[in-house]
Amino acid sequence: MNMGRIACAIGRHSVDSANVTRVSGQRVGRCRNCKAPMEEVEPHSWAVQKVRDAGLGPRAFL
Ligand SMILES: [Zn+2]
Repeated sequence: MNMGRIACAIGRHSVDSANVTRVSGQRVGRCRNCKAPMEEVEPHSWAVQKVRDAGLGPRAFL
């Protein structure tokens, strides 16, 4: 029984604080359970990143 996965399923991801990096002044990391990319939207408040640059991001691999 993986409680972390259940938390992710309801949107309560937990960032892996050991692997947080800083990108252009913003702290970014990944969920320790599902590896979803996350960003610190305000101090100690993390949210899953939204793709803002559609066409320049993952789609570049197509
Ligand atoms: Zn997660």
